This record gives sequence, C-alpha cells and structure tokens, in this order.
Amino acid sequence: MILYELKCHRGHAFEAWFLNGATYDSQQASGDVSCPHCGTTGVSKAPMAPNIARGRPHSLQGPGPDFRAQEVAEKIRDAVDGLRQEIEENCAYARAESAAIQQVRDHAVTLAMAATAKILEEKLTGAAGDALIDNAIGALPDRLH
Ligand SMILES: [Zn+2]
Repeated sequence: MILYELKCHRGHAFEAWFLNGATYDSQQASGDVSCPHCGTTGVSKAPMAPNIARGRPHSLQGPGPDFRAQEVAEKIRDAVDGLRQEIEENCAYARAESAAIQQVRDHAVTLAMAATAKILEEKLTGAAGDALIDNAIGALPDRLH
C-alpha cells in the first residue's frame, strides 16, 4: 500500500491509499479518484512525495540521530579519558624510574669520588688501594638502601 497526498483543482488537500503507483495512475485516469471535499475528479498528486512510512509506530523508529550522536560522543569521551589515565600512569612510572636511576647514579658517583679522594689523600698504592675500592664497592648495596 502507498499513501499519496493529493490535491484537487480547487485546492483541497487530502490523502488516499492505493495498492501501488500504477493503481493510482489508472484510477486517476478513469476518474475513480475524487476529492472528498467537493467531489471533483480533477485531482493530482501534491508536490510532496508519497509517504509510505506514515503511521509507523514510534517504537519502530528507534532513537533519533541526536540521541545516537550523543551516545557516540560519550563513547569517544570515555575512550579518551581511559587513554589519558593510562598515559598519566605511564608518565608517573617513567618519572619514578628516572628519579630512582638518578638517585642510584648520584650514590655511585659519591662513593667513587669518596674512594678516589681517600686513595689520593692517603697516597695508598697497589694492593691497599685496591682493597679500599673493593670495600667501597662492597658497601655499595648498603649505601643504596
Ligand atoms: Zn476539492
């Protein structure tokens, strides 16, 4: 079935159902389509296109485009929020790791300088100097804690 918006030559607008477009054409040509307001058979299709969707229950139409767009926007926002949080966490880890490495480096430099200073200061040579360095290296784990 197809619903046509029709108009008579006197300007009355009305709607009528037809089996299909061909049915309308033949009925209109043989004068079987008349205006319900004035009875004239001088009718024609209104400029508006035939509307076969008219009268469809609202439940079949689903959410409108605005609703859908908002739904998509919320999904994108959630994804971006998750991504941002992940990046911030990774940055926090990277900063902590970098700070830890810097701390270890500072300790190592301090120990190496202290050992070198002691060697030079006490003018130790050979085995005595090596022993001092070994001690300093041996103490490294304790100093790092
Ligand atoms: Zn009419």
